[in-house]
Amino acid sequence: MRAAVYARVSTEEQAQHGYSLAEQKDSCTRRAKELGATEILEFADEGISGATLDRPGLEGLRSAIKEGIIDLIVLRDPDRLSRKLAHQLILTEEFEKAGVRLEFLDFTWQDSPEGKLFYNLKGAVAEYEREKIKERMIRGKNQKARQGGIPMNFSLYGYDYSPEKGVQINAQEAEIVKQIFHKFVSYTSPHAIAIELTQSGVPTKRNTNFWHRQVVRQILMNPAYKGEWVYQKNSDSPIIIPVPAIVSKEVWETAQQILAESRRLWAKRGKQQYLLSGLITCTDCGTPMGGHYGTHWGNRVRNYTCRKSESTNRIPGCSPAKLINADSLELIVWNEVKNLLNDPDKLVSAVKRNLPTDEDSKKEIDNLKRQLSDTEKGMTQLIDLIASGIVELDSKIKQKLTQLKQRRELLERRIKEANKESGLALFSRQDMKNLKRLASEIIKNIDDLEFEEKQQLVRSMVSQVYISGRIQGTYHLPDDLPGVDVKIMLRAEMVYSLKNLAIS
Ligand SMILES: [Zn+2]
Repeated sequence: MRAAVYARVSTEEQAQHGYSLAEQKDSCTRRAKELGATEILEFADEGISGATLDRPGLEGLRSAIKEGIIDLIVLRDPDRLSRKLAHQLILTEEFEKAGVRLEFLDFTWQDSPEGKLFYNLKGAVAEYEREKIKERMIRGKNQKARQGGIPMNFSLYGYDYSPEKGVQINAQEAEIVKQIFHKFVSYTSPHAIAIELTQSGVPTKRNTNFWHRQVVRQILMNPAYKGEWVYQKNSDSPIIIPVPAIVSKEVWETAQQILAESRRLWAKRGKQQYLLSGLITCTDCGTPMGGHYGTHWGNRVRNYTCRKSESTNRIPGCSPAKLINADSLELIVWNEVKNLLNDPDKLVSAVKRNLPTDEDSKKEIDNLKRQLSDTEKGMTQLIDLIASGIVELDSKIKQKLTQLKQRRELLERRIKEANKESGLALFSRQDMKNLKRLASEIIKNIDDLEFEEKQQLVRSMVSQVYISGRIQGTYHLPDDLPGVDVKIMLRAEMVYSLKNLAIS
């Protein structure tokens, strides 16, 4: 059994009571061993107030628990986790959800009024405080980034990070980053660089020996390596934080130019060729099938295949390689699309079959009902606490009760709505009419469509094409793939995606 001990002393506690970290760690470790721990990880925060959750030791403990490597946590009392009751509740809930047992040295649930209060409030408070606390924690991290500090989750190849020393260059990894950039700007492809790194056994950040070309590409695109780390790059207000540069600005910019060129090239090359790219999955190996331009008896042939390079893919697809003639497969799918558009009634019933089933709605309703019963339990517990005199009915508690009541009402409303929406009710009569009308408009000039328009149309109507089996025999008609099973999955929300089509 693996245990974690967590200790915390604030500066105040050290000064006033002479508490020491070592004493806490020792007694917690002893208890962990008594309980059968064979391996003990220590986490500690010294001189940090329990008012904030932004503590390196606590962060370490939480990420170890997230990784699932801890079975038991021993600490002196809930105050070690946080001085704030709400934080204690959130953290204990987080730990228990991960299946970790909590053991306190100086605290039992049942024996003290505080214990009882703590235990009972867990159900009542956690529910609605959780969101607020999450928000506060995220705000704390953003603030830090804005002040030029680095949030706790900084992890980037080429660098080491610790709260004390900040971001520092990792010499070995930085050397690899430099190599990647210099090879790339002298026109070695990310693919070739990835193979080279994998073959030379260089470990990645996650300590695997496998370099994917996408990882190489991500390194090439990251402005951190020219000294500008972008925090929350996908948000509306990304923050640029200076870090030590590994390559010069010129080298980085050159790399961006080459990347942009190759993107343009690929866009051109891929364009007229494969109608179904991104839509096909081989059910025999479970991987996507992509276009493959090969030679057959001296003729160039377009195929789809699930076969991928073994050096850069974990699942390289079926072996021997499965090749499906692209003309035949595209014709099968295209004919199906045309057939459906030609027969709007058939289209509507096919779409209905693809709608979220009653089972999906049932799941959502069950989930809402569970939340409702938790909320009601929380209310009952809180009311019991008030009745027994443990909690005083002050304005704060009154507010909490009101919030619980509002939540209950909201959930009840949503359950009613979900019941109405279940099954076919989702797809209104008007939607069906619209779909039929769209179909009859599209079918009028279906044979004059450009490749891109055809592709858009297929993507609006088809969500996936599943392929299983392989070609039997060598000769087949263009619209026939003997031995191959083609399953075309339609989009239930087709009526909306078709509306957005740019087909005149
Ligand atoms: Zn396959």
